[in-house]
Amino acid sequence: MKSIRVPRVESADPYAEDIDPSVQCSSCEAVCCRLTVVLMPEDRVPAWLIARDERGMETMAKGEDGWCAALDRNTFRCTIYDERPSICRKYAMGSPSCRDERKKWFGAAIPTPVRVL
Ligand code: SF4
Ligand code: SF4
Repeated sequence: MKSIRVPRVESADPYAEDIDPSVQCSSCEAVCCRLTVVLMPEDRVPAWLIARDERGMETMAKGEDGWCAALDRNTFRCTIYDERPSICRKYAMGSPSCRDERKKWFGAAIPTPVRVL
């Protein structure tokens, strides 16, 4: 009998199977928007939101409070959502990194109720 080789399908996101669906941005204070967001050449964010270090590396600027300058502090929503950087687009709600950031920020008091805006 002739054997058939089945190609191995690589998952696009290695963490995709480790998403906790109970985690929701609506009950968060956008704590991932405190992380440093390095800008990629393809990113097109407004110039006034870009910070550049002495080596020329570009990141999203942060406010004195530690959150990204593009975050609306009242709603915890991204004000440049449609043009947000590629790193932000790839960051998955409920992923291990998301859960780590929430744990660091909220500690034992991780919020569960949906935030009404
Ligand atoms: S992705 Fe995670 S850390 Fe970021 S706002 Fe959503 S729930 Fe919070
Ligand atoms: S660009 Fe938007 S999604 Fe990305 S860190 Fe800033 S506020 Fe958050």
